[in-house]
Amino acid sequence: MTENITFPSKEIFEEKLYDIFRQNSLDKYLDDDKADKLYRLAVALVETNKSLNLTAVTDAEGIILKHFADSLIAVEEFPKDAFVIDVGCGGGFPTFPLAIIRPDLKITALDSTEKKINFVARTAGELKLANITAISDRAEDLGKGKFREIFDVATARAVAALPVLTELCLPFVRVGGDFVAMKALRYGEEIEATLSENLFEKLGGEKTPAVTPVTLVGGDEPLTRAVIKVKKIKATPPAYPRNYSQIAKSAKKRNK
Ligand code: SAM
Repeated sequence: MTENITFPSKEIFEEKLYDIFRQNSLDKYLDDDKADKLYRLAVALVETNKSLNLTAVTDAEGIILKHFADSLIAVEEFPKDAFVIDVGCGGGFPTFPLAIIRPDLKITALDSTEKKINFVARTAGELKLANITAISDRAEDLGKGKFREIFDVATARAVAALPVLTELCLPFVRVGGDFVAMKALRYGEEIEATLSENLFEKLGGEKTPAVTPVTLVGGDEPLTRAVIKVKKIKATPPAYPRNYSQIAKSAKKRNK
């Protein structure tokens, strides 16, 4: 791993890390080893981003706030030792921050883009994060096979609007487990759209989700976020998830 010369030193980075985590009540999860891993992850992200588009955010404060802290807004929602799938993990978010901060979790990082999954697998190896398994596939395909209904929690950040995300994620969750979506500003509209088609219930979840609004601070302005949690109470009907073209067709209809 080569260090980017414009990136701050480990000492300065960790100072910013503790400061931003403290402002968001996340510093209680940090120790020297975890801070070191987050620094090495940030360097790997910035270095790899020169040849592979993983993120638009490449400054230290941005990475700490918009990738690390943002990936941890639901950190309390994962039961101890939970078996978790991160659907559409991209460059590894929320997978990496969760795997570093919560080494008890076993996380399957799923993305349809092989190059991103190669980065996740390689970096997990470099950081000795044995609790990450990286898989390249489409969620709607994998959710029909041997990964169906085996996870305690399916989570996702910045992948699709909530009606689509619910169809991609709930099939992975065992009955009694949870779908935990990390959402930004327009979460209210997305919840309304999902409820108007009764999708949580149709896919095996409770009728209505538990919603926890979160405000992330430490940047130029506060960032509005929400954790949306849906308990799975019965098996997902075999018809779901539908294939990509059917999911896309429904999404287009909703957006008209
Ligand atoms: N979760 C990451 C984050 O927060 O930085 C990545 C977000 S990125 C905007 C969305 C990712 O979802 C992309 O990497 C894309 O390849 C992946 N994705 C979208 N639809 C998918 C699907 N049906 N199955 C698997 N991955 C999918």
